[in-house]
Amino acid sequence: MIRTSIWEKRHFLPHYDVIIVGAGLIGLCSALELRSKSKSLKILVIDRASIPLGASTRNAGFACFGSPSEILADLKNHSFDHVCQLIKKRYDGWNLLLNLVGRDQLKYEPTGGYEVFRDSDEQSYAQCQAIIDPINDAIHNLLGIRLYQEWTKPLPQVNNFAHIIAAPHEGLIDPGSMMKKLLEMIGQSEIDFYGGLACEELVEQTNLMEVKTSRGKLTANQVILASNGFAQKLVPDSDITAVRNQILVTSPLKNCIQGAFHYDRGYYYFRNIGSRILIGGGRNIALEEETTNQFDITEKIRRNLQQFLKSHLIPTESYQIEYEWSGILGFGKSKIPQVKRKSSRLVMAAGMGGMGIAIGAAIAQDAAHEILC
Ligand SMILES: Cc1cc2nc3c(=O)[nH]c(=O)nc-3n(C[C@H](O)[C@H](O)[C@H](O)COP(=O)(O)OP(=O)(O)OC[C@H]3O[C@@H](n4cnc5c(N)ncnc54)[C@H](O)[C@@H]3O)c2cc1C
Repeated sequence: MIRTSIWEKRHFLPHYDVIIVGAGLIGLCSALELRSKSKSLKILVIDRASIPLGASTRNAGFACFGSPSEILADLKNHSFDHVCQLIKKRYDGWNLLLNLVGRDQLKYEPTGGYEVFRDSDEQSYAQCQAIIDPINDAIHNLLGIRLYQEWTKPLPQVNNFAHIIAAPHEGLIDPGSMMKKLLEMIGQSEIDFYGGLACEELVEQTNLMEVKTSRGKLTANQVILASNGFAQKLVPDSDITAVRNQILVTSPLKNCIQGAFHYDRGYYYFRNIGSRILIGGGRNIALEEETTNQFDITEKIRRNLQQFLKSHLIPTESYQIEYEWSGILGFGKSKIPQVKRKSSRLVMAAGMGGMGIAIGAAIAQDAAHEILC
């Protein structure tokens, strides 16, 4: 066992007011929110990886609020008001993130979003059509915007879909640029950050919380657990499930889609990155295998996504897959991300699901508030 030196204890591993475990979007935004509320708090963020390794640096970069078929699915488990409040929270969170990080640093492109429906999705399309007006009216009352509109014009390079519903307020970001800026802001805010330091155990004592790591024991008055899909390892009684999503990115194309696209309750998503296509998801064909926290790529999903590309987006042009990766989502039992006080010294902010970008800064604000109240 490596023992801690007095110098390490004094300068690298002192007692903190708040330690945040996990430097994804939620962890970093929580730290910045705490700093904005108190100049004197001693705050540390740790991540098990040198570059945060979960969802925030590995997602698709959709700034989105819920596609109609996803909203329809949510309405099966939550009341209409609840679902509208969730959409509002995403929209509010997105505006917080825009203010915090800035449009340029997010590399925000206000492309608009679209949900596409195949011929075989006639029933789902009809059900989605039926919720456009009630959702638009309710969201207009809450936010002054109309979220969805039926779209009848053709979209370049989007083939073999029977119907399209547009979501004009959606857009695209560069998640790497967002995370780099947030880490830079952490450095400028007198918040300590150690990448490559995993929390192995949280041990609550009467007067402090111990955060056990491979480099020794850290202590804090309070901890925010922001490890999302990996939360259950440290809080075994939490209901967070790790779910993998895989992504492919093509070589540059002569003819490429433009914008943010959703298909089938958010199970498939695709966008352009310049003249490349990013496509991800497809886990509905392998739900059990994809319920994992392992960052693998599987042939089954790769083939499924490539088939989608061929049928709908790149029927004739030849291309290569130049990038492929996976990321890990955290799903709670409810669709609504959880900020839970687990004890007087532990707040858990997890279960961001597949739409954490827009809501993230709002959830981080709630986590910071929970620490300070
Ligand atoms: C492939 C993919 C595509 C997605 N696309 C979109 C999208 O287009 N739009 C959208 O809104 N959302 C999208 N999401 C979801 C979104 O990325 C997440 O909801 C959001 O990033 C969650 O942020 P987080 O900070 O809660 O978790 P994470 O970013 O997962 O951060 C958790 C961090 O905790 C660290 N950690 C874990 N265990 C420990 C430990 N024991 N000790 C220390 N550190 C630890 C991890 O290394 C990680 O950095 C996507 C997710 C994936 C995987």
